[in-house]
Amino acid sequence: RAKAAGKSGFVIFDEAMHQEALSRLQLETDFRLAFERSEFRLHYQPIMELATGRLVGAEALVRWRHPLRGLLPPGDFLAVAEETGLIVEMDAWALREACRQLAAWRDAYPEFAGLSMNVNVDERQMVSAEIVEEVFSLLQRHRLPPASLRLEVTETAFRAGRGQAEQRLLSLKALGVGLVVDDFGTGYSSLESFAASPFDALKMDQLFIRDIETNPRHRAIVRTITGFAEDLGLALTAEGIETEGQLALLKSVGCQYGQGYLFARALPPDEFEQMLLAGSRIVG
Ligand code: C2E
Ligand code: MG
Ligand code: MG
Ligand code: MG
Repeated sequence: RAKAAGKSGFVIFDEAMHQEALSRLQLETDFRLAFERSEFRLHYQPIMELATGRLVGAEALVRWRHPLRGLLPPGDFLAVAEETGLIVEMDAWALREACRQLAAWRDAYPEFAGLSMNVNVDERQMVSAEIVEEVFSLLQRHRLPPASLRLEVTETAFRAGRGQAEQRLLSLKALGVGLVVDDFGTGYSSLESFAASPFDALKMDQLFIRDIETNPRHRAIVRTITGFAEDLGLALTAEGIETEGQLALLKSVGCQYGQGYLFARALPPDEFEQMLLAGSRIVG
């Protein structure tokens, strides 16, 4: 067949598709093995209080130390994690590891007792039957104040018709853990759904921050979200702050918290710890 098709390009296309399917399959196989081989890691991105420059918390972001491909960001494997359903297991691991790490830092440095930990929770984990029990037992085991743990979920996890996730959120809220809407402003939820929502905080998507200096419409949206959060009594964090100009604008509209490459990327635990200790000396 290759001969018949000559150099028309169709064969090459088929071959590329074939290769892609193979490497996808390989990735899936590797992903299953990654649990046994303990190849997942958490990196921690500092969350800063913008007015003071103080480091107040961390967001745990999963990485996969692939034996051949090196350290992979979630963008390279979340799709596989979702399609195989293994994301529930991966998130359960991330939650356990983040709680263990938070407790370790709190125990080692009593002066950082106020440090909080944000963990991303996929909507599939949010509807799983075990999530509430799991969070409860982790808080107990590590003697963590419930409010020091903050679960980040995207808007899809609680939009209309997802009654089960809503029940879980209410139960988690009753435990006292923080609930954060991730990537706020890019989903499909109605403003009405926030009127009686159990959330305590919003994270503004980096989409609005990226060009906040040059795009007056995004600047207007950021100003509006800031007022919205303030009026509803929700804490507000801006994602993806990369420049001093973006920071200045966010401070000027009154956004309370932020994270981004301007402060730090997601860091391995030892580097996060160094930044925590360095900051404490500067700010007092
Ligand atoms: P997210 O929760 O919205 O996390 C923010 C992402 O933006 C992270 O990418 C972070 O490294 C990146 N980021 C932070 N500051 C900047 C910046 O200044 N500029 C730019 N361009 N990017 C910045 P990352 O680590 O690749 O994670 C991507 C997404 O993967 C996360 O988005 C989250 O939705 C998901 N994710 C990460 N860890 C987990 C996990 O443990 N479980 C689940 N279910 N999802 C996770
Ligand atoms: Mg997040
Ligand atoms: Mg986000
Ligand atoms: Mg995001």
